Amino acid sequence: MPRVPASRIVVVGGGIGGLAAALATARAGHQVTLVERAARFGEIGAGLQLAPNASLALDELGVLDAVRKHAVAPPRLVMMDALTGDQVTSLDLRSDAYIQRFRHPYLVTHRTDLHAALLAACEDHPAITLRTGHTVTRAEQDAAQVRLHFAEGHEVLVADAVIAADGLHSRLRQALVGDGDPVCSRYVAFRGALPTDRMSGRMSQHAASEAVMVWAGPRMHLVQYPVRRGELYNQVAVFESDHYTPDSDDWGTEVELEERFAGTCQAVRDALPLVSRERRWPLFDRLPLSNWVHGRIVLLGDAAHPMLQYLAQGACQALEDAVALGRALSQHTDPDAAFASYAEARVERAARIQTNARRFGEICHLEGMGATLRNQLLSARSPEDFDDIAWVWTPATADVPAL
Ligand code: FAD
Repeated sequence: MPRVPASRIVVVGGGIGGLAAALATARAGHQVTLVERAARFGEIGAGLQLAPNASLALDELGVLDAVRKHAVAPPRLVMMDALTGDQVTSLDLRSDAYIQRFRHPYLVTHRTDLHAALLAACEDHPAITLRTGHTVTRAEQDAAQVRLHFAEGHEVLVADAVIAADGLHSRLRQALVGDGDPVCSRYVAFRGALPTDRMSGRMSQHAASEAVMVWAGPRMHLVQYPVRRGELYNQVAVFESDHYTPDSDDWGTEVELEERFAGTCQAVRDALPLVSRERRWPLFDRLPLSNWVHGRIVLLGDAAHPMLQYLAQGACQALEDAVALGRALSQHTDPDAAFASYAEARVERAARIQTNARRFGEICHLEGMGATLRNQLLSARSPEDFDDIAWVWTPATADVPAL
């Protein structure tokens, strides 16, 4: 890679997107300071699916082996009908067809394991400085610099350029784009990972199969898969609330969860009591944004393209962003040119995935005749037929070396 003069770049946000961006930027030869508002770096106690586009990105960032150590490579993705308990369709993730087409593994991991691997790589990199307890309140910029202000009263931080990876409710996006609040889908998720030895019966059998199980039902679904070398089992129960109100948290409650899942098959009902109730997660996205670059500030991850989780691609796309940004920053002396090249490479693809995530959610949550037709169409597919999903799992600029 050509070396370009180092810039001082600040990354705002230490989630998966921000850490990956810091790593990619430092590996491209720049000095990076990452600022995170939380007092400690961390992620929530739930799982994450990493499609082959994400494992390719992790490979390019040099952390794939570290992530694999704690992850599970599931043999199959299985869609079940949540009402009848019948299998609808599956994808064979160990087939020759999968390996030849994608060459990188499909992984499922605990979020904290992925986050820890990225954090360790950032800590080890001499060009990265990490600062917690730094909440950005404001950014001022001119043609040459960006000045960041912090809620905690820290000194103003001056940078040649800023990467805004401050998530769904990004303050920087709000200041730069001003496109209002994220769009609430009226769906809510309850999720968490439990020790595998707390499970019994059919649930243990599903866990032992190591498959990703998606139980699709009317306006609800349940996702299950093992994480952390199979020691934990991740469950995500998602449903649409009939009681959504924009200005309150009193919707999508545990009571509604029980009601919505009441008519499901035995396997789903058996699993429900073990779904974590610690916290509920209203599910948001936004409409695609065509301009991610605002002077010397660029958006990345959920700050750029928050999406519903139905294609399991939000973090995968943040990782793709980081790799594309690192590539651009290694090729262009001027951050302006690098940011423009990054946006050119990423905006259209991320928008397409954002839009299709909504559609896939609608397909997943069909009821009545719609669900019957979906099941008939999907059950005719071969488990080795990846034609419909290949564009999602293959980055536009994929230069995919064999592992
Ligand atoms: P975040 O994780 O939100 O990180 C933003 C960071 O910025 C945070 O650490 C925050 O504290 C910090 N911050 C915010 N404001 C400031 C500020 N002003 N100053 C300093 N720091 C600040 N994606 C997948 O790829 N696969 C999946 O299987 C998957 N499943 C999902 C399931 C559910 C139920 C949900 C809700 C999402 C799922 N996603 C999945 C999406 C994925 O979780 C997100 O897309 C991803 O975590 C976004 O990472 P990020 O770094 O862009 O944002």
